[in-house]
Formats: sequence, C-alpha cells, structure tokens
Amino acid sequence: MTRLRLITTWLLLLVPTLMLGLGALYLLKSEENRLANSARAAAGDRSAAIAGNLDLAIAEVKDGLLETLRNLPQENPARQADRLEEWKRGNPLVRNVFIWERGHGLRYPDPEMPSSDEEGDFIRRYRSLFANPAAWQGPPGDIAAKTATDQASSILLERRELRELAKQAPASADISGAPAPDAARAGTSGWRPWFADNSLHLLGWYEWAGRPQRIGVEVEMMALMGRLLGNFPAEPPDTETYALIDGNGAIFHQVGRLDITPDSLPLATAAIIGLPHWLVAAYANSPDGATGGSFLLLASLLVGTFMVAILLGGSLLLWQAHRNQVDAWQKTSFVSSVSHELKTPLTTIRMYAELLGEKRIEDPDKQRRYLKVIIRESQRLTRLVNNVLDFSRLEQGRRKFAREELDLAALLHGLLDSQLVRIEEAGMQLARQIEATSALIMSDRDALEQIVLNLIDNAIKYAAAGKLLRVELQPQQGRWLLRISDQGPGIPSSHRQQIFDKFHRVDTSLTARQQGSGLGLSIARQLAEGLGGTLVFCPNTSGGACFQLTVPTGGDA
Ligand code: ADP
Repeated sequence: MTRLRLITTWLLLLVPTLMLGLGALYLLKSEENRLANSARAAAGDRSAAIAGNLDLAIAEVKDGLLETLRNLPQENPARQADRLEEWKRGNPLVRNVFIWERGHGLRYPDPEMPSSDEEGDFIRRYRSLFANPAAWQGPPGDIAAKTATDQASSILLERRELRELAKQAPASADISGAPAPDAARAGTSGWRPWFADNSLHLLGWYEWAGRPQRIGVEVEMMALMGRLLGNFPAEPPDTETYALIDGNGAIFHQVGRLDITPDSLPLATAAIIGLPHWLVAAYANSPDGATGGSFLLLASLLVGTFMVAILLGGSLLLWQAHRNQVDAWQKTSFVSSVSHELKTPLTTIRMYAELLGEKRIEDPDKQRRYLKVIIRESQRLTRLVNNVLDFSRLEQGRRKFAREELDLAALLHGLLDSQLVRIEEAGMQLARQIEATSALIMSDRDALEQIVLNLIDNAIKYAAAGKLLRVELQPQQGRWLLRISDQGPGIPSSHRQQIFDKFHRVDTSLTARQQGSGLGLSIARQLAEGLGGTLVFCPNTSGGACFQLTVPTGGDA
C-alpha cells in the first residue's frame, strides 16, 4: 500500500468519524439545553408553588386578624383601646394596635404621649399615613396585589381564586355569629402594605359603616415570617436551592446548599402577593446551570471514547492490512530473489559439468579448475539452502539448538581454512587474531558456522575492495567475543539497526550489483540470540563494517 493510499484511506476513516462525533456533540448540546430548559421550568413551578403556599398562609393570617377586628363590639374609644391592647398582649402576631378617626387623625396610641418606645416608633412610622386620609387608598392593596399577581405564575393565580371561592361558599356559616350579609354591609376593611425603615410592614384596618373611627392592627412581621417558613420544602432537590428574598434583595431564608451571592442568577422567581416586593427564588447549586454540566461532560466523554475506539480500531485494521500487504510483497520478492540466487550457481554448475561431460576439455589443469568451480558453486548453493531452511525454521520457531562441547578456536580455524581460497580469490587478505589455543564452549556447531559464513559472505560480496578481512577472537567477561571486520564502504549509520531486519538491504549501487535476499544478517542475529549470545554492528574506526558476535562459554542457550 503506497503512502498516499494509506493516508487517503486513513482520511476516509478520520473525516466521517470526526463528522459523526461533531454531529453527536451538537445533538448532545441541544439535548442539554432542552434538559436545562425543562429543569428551569420545573424550578419555576416549584418556586410558584412555594410562593402560593406562603401567600395562602399570609391570607389566612390576614383574614383571621381582620375577623377579630370586625367582631370587636362598638364601644367608646377608651374601652375599645383597652380591648385592642388586651388583644395585642395575647396575640404574638399583633405588634401594634391603633384607633384612627377621620378628620382627627390618630386617637390611640396618643401621638403626644406614647406609652413606650415601640409605640413612639409606631407613631413615627405611620405619621404620614395617619395624617393624610388619602394615603389609606393608595397604592391600594388590591393594586399592589394585582401587580404582583401579574408577575406570579398561573399556579399562584389558581390557588388564589380557589381560596376566594372557598371563602365565598360558606358565607352563611360565618363564625362571627353575626349574619354575614349584615357584617359585609356593616363596615369596610382592608390591608395597607407600608414601607418604612427599609422594611415592609402590614397594616390591617376595619371601619364601621357610618362611623368615623377605624380600628387597626400592625402585624408582627417576625412572628408572621417565623410561621411562614414551614412552607419551604424541608429537603429541596439535590441540585437546587430555594430562597425567600425580601424587598431589599436580601436573603431572608434559604433551603439548599448554595452559597448565594449578589452575582448568583436565579433559575426562576415567583412573587408573593401578600408580601409586595418579596420573592421566592430558585437557584441551581452547580455554576454550570440546571443540569449541573455533568450531562454534557459525561456524554462528551462517551462520544470521545467511541470516536477514539473507532479511530484506533480502524487504524489497527488499516495497519494490519498494510502489514499483510508488505508481508505479501516481501514473500514474493523473497521467492524471486532466492530463485535468482539458486539459478546462478546451478547454471554455472550445469555449464561446467556439461563441458567436462562432453570430454572436450583435455587439459588436466583446466579440468581441475572447472571441477573447483563446480565444488565452489555447489558449496554456495548449500549455504543458500541452509539459510533458507534456517529462515523458515526460525520463523516457525522450529529451530532446535544443539548443546555439544566445541572448541570455538578450532572451529574458526577450520572454517577460515575452508574459505581461504574464496577470500583470496576475491582479492582479500585474511588476518586472523585467534590467540587462544582452545576456547571450549557448549554450543551448536551448525548455527555458529552459519553465522560466521554469512558474515564472511557479506564481506566478500560488499567489501572486497577493502582488501582486508580481519577475524579476531578473544575472551570477555566469561564469554567469547568474535569480531569480523573489513575495510569496505561500511554501512550508513541510518541503516545500522535495520540491516538486521529480514529482507532489509541498504539501497546502494554496490548492493544492487550483488545478489542477495536481505536475510543473511537477520538469520545470523536470530541464530546468535538462539545460542544465548548477541550479534551487533560495531563501530569500525578504520572505516568499513564490523560485526561483533558474543557467545556464552557455558552454552546456556
Ligand atoms: P544480503 O546480503 O542478502 O542483501 P544481508 O542481511 O546479509 O542480506 O545484508 C543486508 C545488507 O547489509 C546488505 O544488502 C548490504 O547492503 C549490507 N551489508 C552487509 N554486510 C556488509 C558489509 N560487510 N559491508 C557493506 N555492506 C554490508
């Protein structure tokens, strides 16, 4: 597979995978938005439900207080003030009571002589209201309520309507004892929210028909709020926090673990009709919004894992296909180069054998020379066939290594003697440095011979121009070290590792001129490792190539 085809195929895998991943991420983002919106809507509904509950509770309190005012008997102001005072003392929801008279102003408590600091504060707080009859009207509670109602959700409205309906139904059974229609006609009543000292106050009043007096009550807000907070959910959803926010924007109460700051943006808010400007707000506990950001993160991780798996799996298959193709190509070129290498000696052998067979050569010297050629070429064939056999045995893991006692020095001398003619015919001089008289090892003779022959073959093939072949044997740290070096062109540093890979040939004109299959060094290294030794290329200071074989003495292969 060419590099271009490989890149194109990989791009064909990468681009659709990326598009698939991006599409999936886009869909996930939309899904997260949808989830966030529904979470926001749910939070809005929950806030409105809490606000509705609060509102119902406030309305109950207000109704109860007005009911009491309405049921007070009409008496002289002093007696009435006593009754109101008594009521205030007994009811924790009542902070202050008052009697106000049209055209006259505040009757009780006496604006000139407040009996306590609290009364003094009360008079000061409502001075403008008590001084101005028109102030009782506006902004009327109903309008304030309507404004709030506009903001409140439909849930809130429905609850309010339901409560009104429920109140109307049992009108004939009014607990005041007096007939309800009369009571309704008997006077007017109302509530007036009042903002003073930076906080909200609620003032309820009742006025008998035809009388100038108005009796009223100021709600003890703290006691009211204390009773309202039970309407907040004890255990809010794990992802949300609910807060009651007062008219100044301060948090009055909260449930949930979020540390609410002025920067916190609520998911939803709901107004409380009975407490103008107060809100119930819902916040997401996680800064990433209603879904906590975990959905997109997890989903992206999942999509990422799928994409990586697709890319890795695809790349692996592609790489495997590439390897198979390279293997197939190597096998074909191996078969062709081995056949070629077999053909050359066979042709020479046949040619000389035919010449001798025809008995046309009469000169005994010539006959001897031809016979030597036949012997040399058949030896070359043997080496080649041995290499091919070793290669297939090593590839299949079938190569067995013998353990026989050998004298490495004697083995080397014998081998070199047998190759001396070839070496000299190649124009090379053999320099032996085998000082040891005996180098006993436990090893495999055939394997050792094959390694040394492959190295000598290469020196003759590629380094004959260097004229020298040096063979050295010396002991080194309990092993024998055999070095075979020449003074040929050497091996470029970028190829020094790869020459030991099977089928690898250095791409030079010298290599191209010589026959070879790129197996010699690969087989030699595998055999060396099989013997428990090593075969490496070693730097040769005087130029040329140098190969170093180490073999263990004990033959621990
Ligand atoms: P082959 O000789 O069949 O090509 P080898 O595995 O024996 O295969 O050698 C691999 C390559 O290493 C050779 O093709 C050659 O380019 C290079 N080579 C091996 N020995 C030498 C040497 N002594 N001098 C220069 N190049 C060498």
